[in-house]
Amino acid sequence: MENELRNFGDAESENASIKATAQRAVVNDSKLKELFIEELKDIFWAENHLVQALPKMREAATSAELQAAFADHLEVTQKQIVRLKQVFEMLGEQAQGKECEAMKGLTKEAEGIIAETESGTATRDVALIIAAQKVEHYEIATYGALAQLGRTLGLLEVATLLDITLEEEKETDHLLTTIAEDHVNYQAKKETE
Ligand code: FE
Ligand code: FE
Ligand code: FE
Repeated sequence: MENELRNFGDAESENASIKATAQRAVVNDSKLKELFIEELKDIFWAENHLVQALPKMREAATSAELQAAFADHLEVTQKQIVRLKQVFEMLGEQAQGKECEAMKGLTKEAEGIIAETESGTATRDVALIIAAQKVEHYEIATYGALAQLGRTLGLLEVATLLDITLEEEKETDHLLTTIAEDHVNYQAKKETE
């Protein structure tokens, strides 16, 4: 009797594991994976767009620290694009961008700030830092969500690559905060009309 029960239990757990395997197979071609790939195309477009925007932001910046931060982040961004290409390759997908409305808007806002502030002022640097941090926060939200989604889909190597980029975006955000707090904000406070 006891044995029979145990056998019954084993059969049930075997069934459960077959079901789990089937579910995992479904997940791999699921709507969720489709969404994952669409989101990757969005951030791929966004990173490529930033490669165009960052040199303009560097040119508009006055403080040497901020100029260097933008120059460094341009290099980092180029590496992130290579990393995304690797991700597409791992997924057997074409590395293809899909217009990101948010990044388009954020860089447009940055251009507006440059136009509205006076060149050579710390006030413009403060505005550039705010604009850049909005960009980094969009990227942090995206990479954080996509790394997690990668893990949910069982794509652990992909998730690991996305985590590396996530950390780089966080570091950049912190660096921008430091530049604002240590230099630029105080200088800007002294600037009058
Ligand atoms: Fe980036
Ligand atoms: Fe987007
Ligand atoms: Fe970034």
